[in-house]
Amino acid sequence: MVYSKADHEMIESIWQRLKREVEFDRLEEGDQDMLQRAYDLGYQAHHKQRRKSGEPYFIHPLEVAIIAKKEIGLGPTAIACAILHDVVEDTPVTQEEINEMFGPKVGKIVDGLTKLDGLYNVESPQAANFKKVLSTLVDDVRVVLIKMADRLHNLRTIGAMPQHKQLKIAAETSYIYAPLAHRLGLYNIRTEFQDICMKITEPQNYKFVKDKLKVTKDERRAYIAEFVRPLREELDELGLKYEVTGRAKSISSIWNKIKTKKVTFEEIYDLFAIRIIIDTEQSKEKAVCWQVYSVVTDVYRPIPERLKDWITTPKSNGYESLHTTVIGPDGRYVEVQIRTTRMNEIAEKGFAAHWKYKGINNQHDSFENWFDTIRDLLENANSDAIEFVTDFKTSLFREEVYVYTPKGDMIVLPKGATALDFAFAIHTEVGYHATAIKVNNKLVPMGQKLKSGDQVSVTTAKVQKPSESWLKMVVTGKARAKIRSSMKEERRKKGEFGMEALMRKLKNIKVDYEQGVDCLVKYLKLKSRPDLYYLIAQEEVNINEVLKAFDIEHGKLIPKKVETQEGKPAEEVTDKRTDTKSLQKPLTNLLINGEPADTYKHSLATCCNPVQGDKVFAYLTANQEIKIHRVTCPNATHMIANYGYRVLKAEWSTATSSNFVVDLQIIGVDDGPGVIQRMTQIISNDLGLNIRSFSIEGKEGFFMGKVSLVVKNADQLFLAIQKINKIKGVTNVVRL
Ligand code: MN
Repeated sequence: MVYSKADHEMIESIWQRLKREVEFDRLEEGDQDMLQRAYDLGYQAHHKQRRKSGEPYFIHPLEVAIIAKKEIGLGPTAIACAILHDVVEDTPVTQEEINEMFGPKVGKIVDGLTKLDGLYNVESPQAANFKKVLSTLVDDVRVVLIKMADRLHNLRTIGAMPQHKQLKIAAETSYIYAPLAHRLGLYNIRTEFQDICMKITEPQNYKFVKDKLKVTKDERRAYIAEFVRPLREELDELGLKYEVTGRAKSISSIWNKIKTKKVTFEEIYDLFAIRIIIDTEQSKEKAVCWQVYSVVTDVYRPIPERLKDWITTPKSNGYESLHTTVIGPDGRYVEVQIRTTRMNEIAEKGFAAHWKYKGINNQHDSFENWFDTIRDLLENANSDAIEFVTDFKTSLFREEVYVYTPKGDMIVLPKGATALDFAFAIHTEVGYHATAIKVNNKLVPMGQKLKSGDQVSVTTAKVQKPSESWLKMVVTGKARAKIRSSMKEERRKKGEFGMEALMRKLKNIKVDYEQGVDCLVKYLKLKSRPDLYYLIAQEEVNINEVLKAFDIEHGKLIPKKVETQEGKPAEEVTDKRTDTKSLQKPLTNLLINGEPADTYKHSLATCCNPVQGDKVFAYLTANQEIKIHRVTCPNATHMIANYGYRVLKAEWSTATSSNFVVDLQIIGVDDGPGVIQRMTQIISNDLGLNIRSFSIEGKEGFFMGKVSLVVKNADQLFLAIQKINKIKGVTNVVRL
């Protein structure tokens, strides 16, 4: 045994904490026994391992088990699985031993978890992993819920990891785990995912918001108290059992508002929400919530458009609550959320709590519908992993519309869904053969976006079939995947003619079929043989013309050494490309994988124009070139999440002498020429920076300017943005 006394005490104290959390003494004897045996096995099995932080490894599965209970609300079987989740993957214990010791239920979940984990070691596109995540999701949701707990604990303790690994984990998390947590109703976990990701990718902005929240905390608390006081009086009079809380929104969601709405921290009116949680029996829930709504709106004037009734129609992730925004003291807007204890438990713990109240076998359950959608996507053998993830992500849409069939059945679709999406949601066959769609009794184009409350009817005809253009008219993953697979089938059928024609031709000129086809596919730069067959069938490729580019030797096609399409010898073209490359300024301060960047053929990505000091990563493109992107690049998450194996570590060496050009957009109130003068004064005199160019344009009391600055590093840039922001008349500064 390699546990020291201190190690043992540390593990023991976490175990005690877990036992308190699951109320161990009140569990049935069988469950107690199962948990104790899981603990004993984990304790033994992990004894040789340490975490990156140096702590004994076994504290990780125990903490994961605590999260699984405390924040997701899982039961004893799942808790045991959480304790065992890394045993098969990381220790000599085998899956068979787990099955034998704990039975098939635990065995199956642990197996699912092992498979999910093991995949991250394989050099394969992460998209394939997500596909695996989702197959286990429809198999037994608990696998994915435990995976969420695992991911959360790893993120909470990510500090010990090297930075490039942190980035990879952050990208994966915000690309798939955070939306998935949202879809499963795990709001708290989703928020924490997003906050930790932001802390990794945008530490300065994270700190900025965090500090602001801290400074304004007392003022906020006083305001909430003032807001709540008159409400309490009224609620007490009604004799209700309730609780009122007022909590600030998450750092990442506040930052998102600042970014997307282009407002300052001070201008965000809904920094916090008031939550009234009522303890009442289930049969009275709806009435009581509306009663409380009536109290709130008697005291404060509501903004009617902001009323959201998720009680009558819960969100498809199970969320139930009544939201309103009212005008509080000093004319400030305040969001008030009204819900019962049960609804609150669902809002905080998500799926597991929803399950507890509804029962899993409810056919009309919104989760069941969603699982059906995923099963549909999974069964679609044609879709490749990346297409699949994109399709799946559309099923994670945050906002929904509620539309109706002529019989009055409700269909929930993501916001932005079209009439054609509706047809596919009804039934695949209805989608395939849809010829005309009526919304509220009026004939509409099939690509028409639906609104909540629309009544939709679809006319079908057997002769109708999907075409390429349909893909542009749908947004749901199901419709997209179905249309695509029908297109592929169509292509394959047509391609058969092309294949026969090609076979005949090659036979006539006595060329070996296998060699000949592959040679042509390569020559025409196509992805596969079916593509070639299809193009021949469509007469887009003329075999006789193409064959002119080849000689035939010993029954094989040999490309003639001639010219490329542009009419220039191939080599010359390549040379030219290398020339343009070398014109780019050298990035001597950059290290890729710890080596000077000059060792590699590389350039700065033009989508995000990184400067010295920005957090960056290197990305190996399909053409084997390396591009340097900012971690906050809009394309970064997609790249890292789907092609993580192409990401290389990149960092700036500290010594620097080079300069970077950065464009800033400055928006403000136009109060005469004074603004421009103040701005140039601050930039060139106070900050000592060079202005490359400066353009400004005013309209209706506002101005919008673009300034190109020469800076040495990100710190200098950050300082410049801060200073410009403080200039009188300037309301917003963003980096372009
Ligand atoms: Mn783990």
